[in-house]
Amino acid sequence: MTLDPKLSCRRCTNNAAVFISRKEPFCRECFVRFLRGKQRKQMADYKVCYDPSTSAPQIPPKILLALSLSESSLSLFEMLVSLLHEQRKMHRGNSGFELFVVHVDQSNVYPYPAGMEPNTILENIRQNYHDTCTITCTPVDDFFADARTGLQFIHDASDIAEYSLLEDQALDSKITVSDLLTNIRDRTSKLDILQIIRETLIFKTAKELECTTILWGDTMSRLAEKTLSLTAKGRGSVIPYLLSDGSRNDIHNIYPLREVLRSEAEEYINLLDISKYVSKPSIKTPNVLRMMTIDDLLGNYFADIEKGFPSIVSTVVRTAAKLTDTVARARYACALCGLPCDDESPERWLQDITVNQSAPTADSTCEQDSIGVVKDRQRPIICYGCLIATKGASFPWISTIASSKEAVLDEYELH
Ligand SMILES: [Zn+2]
Ligand SMILES: [Zn+2]
Repeated sequence: MTLDPKLSCRRCTNNAAVFISRKEPFCRECFVRFLRGKQRKQMADYKVCYDPSTSAPQIPPKILLALSLSESSLSLFEMLVSLLHEQRKMHRGNSGFELFVVHVDQSNVYPYPAGMEPNTILENIRQNYHDTCTITCTPVDDFFADARTGLQFIHDASDIAEYSLLEDQALDSKITVSDLLTNIRDRTSKLDILQIIRETLIFKTAKELECTTILWGDTMSRLAEKTLSLTAKGRGSVIPYLLSDGSRNDIHNIYPLREVLRSEAEEYINLLDISKYVSKPSIKTPNVLRMMTIDDLLGNYFADIEKGFPSIVSTVVRTAAKLTDTVARARYACALCGLPCDDESPERWLQDITVNQSAPTADSTCEQDSIGVVKDRQRPIICYGCLIATKGASFPWISTIASSKEAVLDEYELH
């Protein structure tokens, strides 16, 4: 953007403006401070704490940043590094958190531009930031790495009720995420399942590294897109659970950029000269409207909206935040996405609404025969969104909710 050189920053009224955001001209320093302020507000709890009795600094919590190498995740990375530097300077080398970074490498699924492969980029980042963080790179195929302990099942293409355990069948370790995705025809569903795999790996890494918090780089624009796309994909019930800050899988989740627009994150990395680290797999967006995924369409929509009417973006996100979370305490978790599922069997509900007889009452769906119950419940529970996403597909999967068949059966017996 070329600005009038006479235009000065409205905050300091001294320096020349370099960027206009939300109709306000900013100089470089004021803009950087403005965005960092928004991130720090969301992470106010992560300051240096001292033990009241000994005055010694407390051991800082380990936090994991999910770094997708997009503009927004990189800007959050830089903000965290700058916060760490500042804390160390002011607290004689102590900090309010210990920073871990994870990137899920999808190069086996989608090619990256030459020379911009995640390993190369991450190595460059490591060289410059090794004193502030530990960086891990997880190949997307690690999803199938611990197949021996995973719960495996297949979705029979002919009948939505035919999700079943593949008992005793050793999962071939050569199964790749790419294989799995070729079983799914619809592009929206393909990317939806890929996102579930990425998030599963990020949670797994957090547990392995004993991190108590995961930071997600989603901007306000991205959260608005997700709100609408989750609704369109039949995953509306998990919006408050998924997009609010809070505990998921016993790990605290924060979206520190929830008040930052995507265009602001993009400008931030340009001003701080870290745009050279941006690396995205080349997932081609088709030009034909009918071929676009829901996320493509919403991405375009919000990119236009945030230029002229940023308040619409924040209205969507704030409205989503006001929704009541009805699923967090749900009894069941979907075997595919691992998200809470408030209905024991959406597939049964789907069948009930498509046949010409009244739906059975809640009581009659529950088998009295104890053997029958166990038998019936060996079938994994799949949420409505995953049923839709995997319709017509047939593939193996590693359950995100249980590590062994015994654990699954034990859990069922407790209910
Ligand atoms: Zn200024
Ligand atoms: Zn699901």
